[in-house]
Amino acid sequence: MTEPSSSLDLRRTRLVRVGSSSMVFSRRLAPLVAMDLEGRVQYLIRPGVTWRRGLDGRILVRGKPADPSAVRVCSGPESEDLIREGLQAVEEVAEAALASKSDAVLRVDPEESEDRSKRRSAPSEAEGRERLRTWLRGRTLLTAEDHAADVVRFRSLHGPVPILPPDQYGAVLFQAVTGCPWNRCGFCKLYGDTEYSVRSRESFHSHVQEVIRYFRRGLNHRRSAFLGDASVSRLSGQELQERCSEVRESLKSAVPGRDWPVHAFADAFTPMHWSEADLKGARESGLVRLHVGVESGCARVLKAVKKPQTPDRVRQMIARLKEAGIGVGCIFLVGLGGRQLASAHLRESLALVESLPLDHRDLLYLSPLLATQAVQYDRQVELDPLTVGEVATQLRLFREQLAPIRKRRGFTVATYDLRLFAY
Ligand code: SF4
Repeated sequence: MTEPSSSLDLRRTRLVRVGSSSMVFSRRLAPLVAMDLEGRVQYLIRPGVTWRRGLDGRILVRGKPADPSAVRVCSGPESEDLIREGLQAVEEVAEAALASKSDAVLRVDPEESEDRSKRRSAPSEAEGRERLRTWLRGRTLLTAEDHAADVVRFRSLHGPVPILPPDQYGAVLFQAVTGCPWNRCGFCKLYGDTEYSVRSRESFHSHVQEVIRYFRRGLNHRRSAFLGDASVSRLSGQELQERCSEVRESLKSAVPGRDWPVHAFADAFTPMHWSEADLKGARESGLVRLHVGVESGCARVLKAVKKPQTPDRVRQMIARLKEAGIGVGCIFLVGLGGRQLASAHLRESLALVESLPLDHRDLLYLSPLLATQAVQYDRQVELDPLTVGEVATQLRLFREQLAPIRKRRGFTVATYDLRLFAY
C-alpha cells in the first residue's frame, strides 16, 4: 500500500522507496539501507547511528548513544557483516512489499523524464511493484562478495581517494592528474607517495570510459563531476577545457536529460597561465567551481607551513576565476600557525576574505586541524600547536567574524571535517 511519508511510523513499518536514482529499504529502521541502482549499499541507519559506505569499502560510522559526535572507520570483517545484515534486510523488506504484507509500504517516485519540462504523474502501486521486481532482477550487486569485488574494481580505477570538498562527496570522480604537484605542506599527508602526473588525452579518455562502465546505473545517483587529484593548475588552458568537456559529454550520453557541472581542486602557487579565453572556454565546457586550499590569509603562517603561495597570489587567482564566471570554494585551515600566530591567522584571513570578490555562488570552508594532524612547522619558527579546545574556539571566532561578510556577500560558510570524508 502507498501512504504519505509524513503519516508513517518508520519504527513499525517495512518501507520500500523506489526512486529514480536510488532505492531505500527500511526494516523498521533496523536498519534503513540506501542503495544506488546497481545495488551498491550507500549507507545504513539505525536510530542514533549512521554507517556511510565508501566505494573503497571503508565504512564511516557516526554517532553512538554515548557520544553523538563520535566518528570511526570500520573495515574488514566488521564491514562485511554489516553489508550482509543490510542486504538481508533488503531481501526481507522487498519480499514483504511484493506480498503486500500489512506492515509493508511501497513508495514510488516518478521516473526522471529526458524532457525535464514534462512532469510525470505519480506511478500507481502496481507500476511501483513492477519497478521493484525489475530492479531486483537487474541489479548487479546482490551479495557481500559482490561488494568486495566492486571494491577491488574501484581501487583498480582510482587507487586511494584521500579527499574531496564536502559538497562533492557524491560527485563522479575522474583523475585528470594524480597526486599533488607540491606535496610538501607541513600539515598535509593526503597524497603520500602518489607521484604527481598528468594523464595524457588518450589515457584520460580510457579512464573516463572505465569510470562510466564501473558506475553504470549508479551514475543516476550522482549529480556532478570532479576532476582530481590535488590540482588541475598545471593543465594547459586547452587541456582544462578538453577534460571538462569530455567528462560532461560522456556523462550526458550515459545519463541523458541532465547536465553535469564540473568541479576540481586548483592551487594558487602554480603561475596562473590560463588566459581569460581559456577560463571562459572552461566555464562553457561545464567548469562551475574550482576549490582552492587558501589555508590562511597570513603570509607568515603560509611560510611557516611551507605552503608556497601568498595571500596576494590567492587574491589575483580568485579575481580572475570570478571574472570568467567560475565559482570558487576557498578552504581555510583553522588552528594553523599555532598559539603564537593564532591572532594573525584569524585577523589576516578575515581581511583576505573581505578583499575577495565572493558571492552567492561561492563556498568558504573552515577545516579545523585534527588532533591527529601534527603540523611540521618551519624549523626557524617556534610555534606551539593549539589544543583541540583552542582549535574549536578559533573555529567559533572564524564563524562569528565571518558572519557579517557572509551576510553582505551571500557566500556559504561550512565546516570541512576531514574525518567525515568517504567517497
Ligand atoms: S595541502 Fe594541497 S598543495 Fe599542500 S601538499 Fe596537500 S595537497 Fe599538496
